[in-house]
Amino acid sequence: MTIQKSKELYARALPLMPGGVNSPVRACKSVNAVPLFIERAKGDQIIDADGNTYIDYICSWGPDILGHGDPEIIEAVKKACDRGLTFGACHKGEIELTGLIRTHMPSMEMMRLVNSGTEAVMSAVRAARGYTGRDKIIKFEGCYHGHSDGLLVKAGSGLLTAAVPDSAGVPKGCTEGTLLANYNDEQSVKDLFEQYGNDIAALIVEPCAANMGVVPPKEHFLQFLREITSAYGTVLIFDEVITGFRLSLGGAQQYYGVYPDMTTLGKIVGGGMPLAVYGGKKEVMECVAPLGSVYQAGTLSGNPIAVSAGIAAIRALEKRENAYQLLEEKSRKLASAMQLSGMNVNRVGSIMTAFFTDQTVTDYRSAKSADTAQYAEYWSYLLENGIYTAPSQFEAMFVSLAHSDEDIEATCKVIAAFHHQS
Ligand SMILES: *Cc1c(COP(=O)(O)O)cnc(C)c1O
Repeated sequence: MTIQKSKELYARALPLMPGGVNSPVRACKSVNAVPLFIERAKGDQIIDADGNTYIDYICSWGPDILGHGDPEIIEAVKKACDRGLTFGACHKGEIELTGLIRTHMPSMEMMRLVNSGTEAVMSAVRAARGYTGRDKIIKFEGCYHGHSDGLLVKAGSGLLTAAVPDSAGVPKGCTEGTLLANYNDEQSVKDLFEQYGNDIAALIVEPCAANMGVVPPKEHFLQFLREITSAYGTVLIFDEVITGFRLSLGGAQQYYGVYPDMTTLGKIVGGGMPLAVYGGKKEVMECVAPLGSVYQAGTLSGNPIAVSAGIAAIRALEKRENAYQLLEEKSRKLASAMQLSGMNVNRVGSIMTAFFTDQTVTDYRSAKSADTAQYAEYWSYLLENGIYTAPSQFEAMFVSLAHSDEDIEATCKVIAAFHHQS
């Protein structure tokens, strides 16, 4: 296997973009590798510039739950293109998409379409602050909510591997109102509410954390968050940018049966195009301009191409019989293969992480105990054997409906052989 062309492209990219990339984790720094340049992708396969084919378990970091280039999404996008790329005006598709979302997620009474998960979270937090008239928010260590100033504190993911706890360029004032709690630790949340209770506008959480690797909520944890936020009049925000349409059509809230005041969606909801959503309780969303005084806008918001992709993705998921059961079965096989090889796996539905640590991973601290050098070795081994996974210990492995049983089997065999090697 040669990656000569990727190396050449990387050399050309380096002087043009910081690290040669448009998002840090793609730089493959934490696994000491050259990023692969992708030529095309189809189904569960991704093909690099040198013509190497891999089974892809990144799936664009979540959006491609139907696999790459789902024919129905491609068809919908082509049709939408013929009608025009952007209008900067209202169109019927917006009603169809928001209606579909509300059907599957009744807690989203009213919503706004935006362009990225970062923007969705930033706007949801602003709406919660506007609604409550309070400034402080609670987030959990290791949860990632996009790269807006106020949320770049102990934010997991790319930041975790880079060992940069906070970003430069974020004024102190921006994070002053951000209080940190420990994931799965009720006491840490209680302490914050006891001290700051009536100043806390919102509590934001990944209902199943997936940006410090996959860390499921302990039993009753989400219910506890629901109860304490209600008691203090704090807006509970579930950041379902990964889990929305991933754990079920109704997201993590349906999967766990705990319903937030507000929700952010991204990734799958855009069907592979840049689209995200924030929304929730009518009385909160009615604070958003032009109804209310919380300002939020977007030139390309509700872009007709992205909206058409989102609609097609959700419709395709609705149509597939047993979609989530199939995802569960495929994913269970992979997780079993890892466990048989002695790996420490956290899995919920079709997202999972093998942590190179003996500790049970329940929060940021236990996640950080993982041996990233060992992960790097595992990652390289998988890649050499045609399996493309996240170049970081603190990311999820994503399974799609396009992952064929043969490819899952082949992957399990490769994983099993890693055990024999080491
Ligand atoms: C990916 C992600 C975001 C940010 O979304 P972008 O579209 O990358 O800005 C926010 N929250 C969670 C939970 C995510 O996984």
